[in-house]
Amino acid sequence: MKALVFEELNRVKLKDVAKPVLVNETDVIVKVKLTTICGSDVHFMQGHVPITPGHTLGHEYVGEIEQVGSAVKDFKPGDRVVGASVLFCGQCERCLAGHIYRCLNGGVFGAGPEYGGLNGSHSEYMRIPHADASLLHIPDELSDEQALFVGDILSTGYFATEKGSVIPGDTVVVFGAGPVGLCAVITAKLFSPKQIILVGRKDEFRLEMGKKLGATHTILSSKEDVLETIHKLTGGEGADVAIDAAGSETTLHQASCCLGIGGRLSIAGLPGPTASLPMFELFSKNVRIEMGLVDLHHMKRLLKLIQSGQVDLSPLITHRMKLDQMEEAMELFASRKENVIKVAITP
Ligand SMILES: [Zn+2]
Ligand SMILES: [Zn+2]
Repeated sequence: MKALVFEELNRVKLKDVAKPVLVNETDVIVKVKLTTICGSDVHFMQGHVPITPGHTLGHEYVGEIEQVGSAVKDFKPGDRVVGASVLFCGQCERCLAGHIYRCLNGGVFGAGPEYGGLNGSHSEYMRIPHADASLLHIPDELSDEQALFVGDILSTGYFATEKGSVIPGDTVVVFGAGPVGLCAVITAKLFSPKQIILVGRKDEFRLEMGKKLGATHTILSSKEDVLETIHKLTGGEGADVAIDAAGSETTLHQASCCLGIGGRLSIAGLPGPTASLPMFELFSKNVRIEMGLVDLHHMKRLLKLIQSGQVDLSPLITHRMKLDQMEEAMELFASRKENVIKVAITP
């Protein structure tokens, strides 16, 4: 079968690889119907997050069950499913304590041996361990595209909003207008804030998309003074919640400084290993800080929100391509050309 393999630093290749087979009785084999490139794929390819080459990339997908292991209870061949990007068993000590993102039997799909050695979704078929825990049925009325982001960027956006404890009337500032930042905008809106300010570095089309999804104001940080604009928009009070979906030293600093007294800082963008925060500023404003790896507890709830029409991420899909064009798709996504936000790839 065809699969996009991380060959070496800065190079991916569409190759013929062996089709996966059932290994454990809790496994299923999924035929991938739709996969999409995530910023993490680019981090792996470009070495920002070092992984050993040789594995199939991809962790955001929709598929159809082809084969089930003997202990799988909830799925049968032909079922349409959406999967979690981060695998969890639902039964180990950490899962039972609620820390499914660090499951003892888990890993990240398409992230090499460093993260569990699970081959990814940029391929025709995948083996999914612990299927009963980490897959969800897609309701009939939802299309594959509508369900595509539930197990990764939408969960991450929701997680960031939840960690920021957004309440009605708040001013929320989202730093980073990439797919996760845009998902933070759409999920923040669910909690009826007074204003949602989206800050992006250079791509105006991403800020325009943010407005369509619910941002009340946008700031292009390469042209405007971010802190001064937020100061004005909040009448000098500062923001209630700052969500960092970019992870850069600059955005972390701005997110800390734009907050008012008692603000909440939620960090969802992967920070560099030595990233720092303006501690005195945060300390003197009694800011609460939350951060971490995405928690996939809310996938079911998010599917329901899509079903009810409260969340619609279909505008994020700007490009549709075939698995045969996967190398080209990675190049397009990594270079941010053609106003790309998300690329949906079919076999
Ligand atoms: Zn991802
Ligand atoms: Zn577990």
